[in-house]
Amino acid sequence: MTTRISNKVIIIGGGISGLAAAYGAIQDGKKPIICEASYRLGGMIQTIQTDFGLVERAANGLLLSKPLERMFSKIGLSPIPHLKDSKKRFFWYKDKVSQLPLSFLDIGRFLFGAIFLNCQPTEREDMKDWSSRIFGSNFTNQFLEPAIGGVYASPLNLMDPNCAFPEILKSSNRSLLNRLFRIRWNRKINYKPQYVGSVSFEGGMQSLIDHLALYIHKHGEIRFGQSKLNLTNLRKEFPQTEIIISLPIQSLYHILQSDPWSKVFLDEYKVTKVPTTSIATVTRFSKDRLLKKKGFGILFPRNSNILANGVLFNDHIFPNRTIDPSIHSETWIYSGDAIREFTTHQINDLVEKDRKCIHNSNFPALGSFCQKWENALPVYGKELIKLNSCLNNIELETKRAKRPIRFIGNYRSGIGLRSIIDLALK
Ligand SMILES: Cc1cc2nc3c(=O)[nH]c(=O)nc-3n(C[C@H](O)[C@H](O)[C@H](O)COP(=O)(O)OP(=O)(O)OC[C@H]3O[C@@H](n4cnc5c(N)ncnc54)[C@H](O)[C@@H]3O)c2cc1C
Repeated sequence: MTTRISNKVIIIGGGISGLAAAYGAIQDGKKPIICEASYRLGGMIQTIQTDFGLVERAANGLLLSKPLERMFSKIGLSPIPHLKDSKKRFFWYKDKVSQLPLSFLDIGRFLFGAIFLNCQPTEREDMKDWSSRIFGSNFTNQFLEPAIGGVYASPLNLMDPNCAFPEILKSSNRSLLNRLFRIRWNRKINYKPQYVGSVSFEGGMQSLIDHLALYIHKHGEIRFGQSKLNLTNLRKEFPQTEIIISLPIQSLYHILQSDPWSKVFLDEYKVTKVPTTSIATVTRFSKDRLLKKKGFGILFPRNSNILANGVLFNDHIFPNRTIDPSIHSETWIYSGDAIREFTTHQINDLVEKDRKCIHNSNFPALGSFCQKWENALPVYGKELIKLNSCLNNIELETKRAKRPIRFIGNYRSGIGLRSIIDLALK
């Protein structure tokens, strides 16, 4: 007797991962059913319209790919490119703002490593050890750590280079420059993006969520107030149906633990809870600019007099971020365990204190909007690699058994929305 897989796809979680998975299912001629615990879609992504301008609660942009461009055109959404003003990126170096936080000697050391050394990490190396060995410790502390901190929000010594840069490091025995050149070349042959760099939308990232939701409403179903955390029950409730889990990482661990069959895989791969990072952001509107120069923002190294990981100059990155051009918008980003304990009032005070280290201004904030995310992102370290091997095996076994389960989220193939959506559309 042959078992038939249903035409339906059950998707648990209605954040961007779940919405992209639903869109992908529709392209495959299937009917997605999203089960979302709350009463809104988008998860972390949400744009709030304030009296001064837009506030993004999480992602403020994404990079393009071929499947993403196709998706935008299908859901009737036009991306807007970043402004030329955002080309310059600044670093906090020796208590000053600088575009290049390195001496000539540091640059020479970096170039030597990037051109001549095989950049394969050894088994025991964390990101800090690996980068210091290949590119030198000044490059690592003054450039890589702030740059990575602004994106992954984790210290380098907790991260694994293979986990953070899987695409760059997967081929063996070559220098970094050689590998980057090959990746760029392959991308160039296969696809030329409409816009290079980050894009957003009129109305912010919420437009992406709203357009996807509208498209999915037409071709599938969205069920709100449906918290699903028991995989055994889910498999009973939806037999012979593909299940896609698009939950945040802490719920993912919970749902796998709930099911004796998948728990065997967790035990086999010795997966323990993946550490996570808490993040707080403050979007601050004011009449003064932090710097005279325009740019993307400033990245701060750890152990400097400034506690923030970075600050983004929102109105230099995308157009129409404030209600009038005399108002400026900054987003300050903080991460780490300490942030968990801070009240929003204390985080707003931190911004004012950090800001004073750069610019002594008399202009008060017109408005400050603080957002705290506990366990926002996984730490891209060795535990996450183990978890992914385990998830790959569960996907393989359930596919073989014709009861497929897939996992989509920022813990699967990198942090950016492009990686998440590309994975969902594969
Ligand atoms: C401050 C910040 C800035 C960022 N900036 C960028 C950026 O500029 N560019 C970029 O590419 N990425 C950025 N990111 C990362 C990006 O926003 C996230 O990786 C992405 O939004 C995660 O989406 P998700 O759908 O996987 O998870 P989530 O957004 O967490 O969605 C999960 C969904 O599952 C639902 N859910 C939870 N439990 C259950 C349950 N038991 N049953 C059913 N549903 C459930 C939740 O309600 C939620 O809707 C940023 C993140 C943060 C925090």
